[in-house]
Amino acid sequence: MKTIGITTTVPVEVLLAAGCRPVDLNNVLVSDPDPGRYVTIAERAGFPLNCCTWIKGIYGVCLDKGIEDVICVTSGDCSNTEMLMETLLLKGVNAVLFAYPGRPDIPAMQHTLEKLAAALGTSLAAAEKVRKEIQPVRDLAFRLDELTWKDNKATGRENHLWLVSASDFNGDAGKYAKDLQKLLYACESRQPYPRDETRLGYIGVPAVYAGELYPFIEKQGARVVFNEVQRQFAMLEPGESLAEQYTSYTYPYSIQERIKDIKTQLKLRKIDGVIHYVQAFCHRGIGDIVFRDAIDLPVLTLEGNADFFLNTHIKTRIEAFLDMIQRRQKAAKTTASAPGFWLSPE
Ligand code: SF4
Repeated sequence: MKTIGITTTVPVEVLLAAGCRPVDLNNVLVSDPDPGRYVTIAERAGFPLNCCTWIKGIYGVCLDKGIEDVICVTSGDCSNTEMLMETLLLKGVNAVLFAYPGRPDIPAMQHTLEKLAAALGTSLAAAEKVRKEIQPVRDLAFRLDELTWKDNKATGRENHLWLVSASDFNGDAGKYAKDLQKLLYACESRQPYPRDETRLGYIGVPAVYAGELYPFIEKQGARVVFNEVQRQFAMLEPGESLAEQYTSYTYPYSIQERIKDIKTQLKLRKIDGVIHYVQAFCHRGIGDIVFRDAIDLPVLTLEGNADFFLNTHIKTRIEAFLDMIQRRQKAAKTTASAPGFWLSPE
């Protein structure tokens, strides 16, 4: 089975229909015990210090692991990937470009999918068959998401890990489903988190220090019950066709598409505050201005660069943010329970 590296979420059903094994290079990077070494490979090759760590890490992973074929997503993800592709081609990697349509449009998406299928030697009909076959796997991810925000029995990190891994199903959809099913059984038998915990939303690209971020938040009496981009990667609202599924996927399109989804979920999940993660040297960081204008809740913007762990500065900022929210929650509770609070003034 041919392995194809991917730089972000692509229509994985098409790759599977072509008999390929998709490998999300971001997931390989962060699950390595020493991810920094991949960044060093890129910097030694000449990547500038002020280039995003994900881009450098992906380059390092490709070279270190001898990945021969890569789908580089440019439009709809990252313009830096264009240069990443050039450098991979220089090293003999068969890097091909994939671009999402400029706006969410089903016929345009249909055309894009047909082109991808033809390039990989398969057809959209075969990919649609795969879509139906893997729907039960997506259903398991949907259930984990519910166990996170509705049943309050899954951790923010579990939610993050399993949803983000749905971009390639860890290279083996069958094993992914089996392991996730085990986790769901374990979650079902847990006691729910306390009702008065602080509920957070996480928006933005996955953090380089995600491994430490979620447990740290939970130590402070809070929990992430909405992982925006990870949930998008998992395609939990797939629709009736691949074209529909990848059109309602908000991440590749304008920030306004994302905001609609974010606001709906913040309300549904009764979120108290939002963490917006931005990656150093990423153009998406500018979107913070738009998010802060649109989101009517306290927002903490955290930046990460090449530290794959939480430094003291970030920990202190998270503590201060949660302290502010928790004081507000306490004050609101005290006011609500004060005698005569519900009596309407005569
Ligand atoms: S974090 Fe930003 S700059 Fe880095 S790969 Fe993602 S979109 Fe590109």
